[in-house]
Amino acid sequence: MNLNEQQRRAYLEAIGIDVWVPRGEAEAEAEIEVQEDAPEVVADDLDWGALREKVSACTSCSLHQTRTQTVFGVGDPNADWMLIGEAPGAEEDRRGEPFVGRSGQLLDQMLAAIGQSRDSVFIANIIKCRPPNNRDPKPEEASACRSYLERQIAIVNPRIIIAVGKISAQNLLGTDAPVGRMRGKRHSFGDVPLVVTYHPAYLLRSPSQKRKSWDDLCLARDIVRESLA
Ligand code: SF4
Repeated sequence: MNLNEQQRRAYLEAIGIDVWVPRGEAEAEAEIEVQEDAPEVVADDLDWGALREKVSACTSCSLHQTRTQTVFGVGDPNADWMLIGEAPGAEEDRRGEPFVGRSGQLLDQMLAAIGQSRDSVFIANIIKCRPPNNRDPKPEEASACRSYLERQIAIVNPRIIIAVGKISAQNLLGTDAPVGRMRGKRHSFGDVPLVVTYHPAYLLRSPSQKRKSWDDLCLARDIVRESLA
């Protein structure tokens, strides 16, 4: 079957696979103007409810102009496990929840394999609003949203952070290393141990890598067990 690029993206979106558009290509597409007078995000002293409210009304980067709604996160704010993905996709933007569709189903299965569920962990993203055309978040967008994520991490105070996918890991660890070099090791975000693994959308395209993701989750589980001992 010969699909043009537009059809390919529509098809992948329809089956729930996030389509990441390379930055150069995305910038060539219709783009929203960068906000020059965006209010700086300060979230250091907010409790969970106030933080959620502030995120839902946020206009601190241009992504607020194209979102359907913000995607704050889902799960237990007192969880031991915190999973951090990249950015909401089309379905997440519609439903207001991270990791839905086929990627979400695979993530749920991965969590079940380690005795966890969407309700027992907390799942968030690097940024809370969907980038147009599912392009990669820009550094200034991740930076504008950073204070919210840091406050979420401070309140949840997890025993482990799983950075799910390249964009998440690179943002959290401040590197441009590929996932293949970051995964399989113990890192940290402040005082919190952090493990990198592949994004489920990538695993759907490359099922042979699932074994490595399982190893990453086992490493994370060992770190949590160690902290409880
Ligand atoms: S992505 Fe983050 S900083 Fe940008 S508008 Fe949404 S909540 Fe605000």
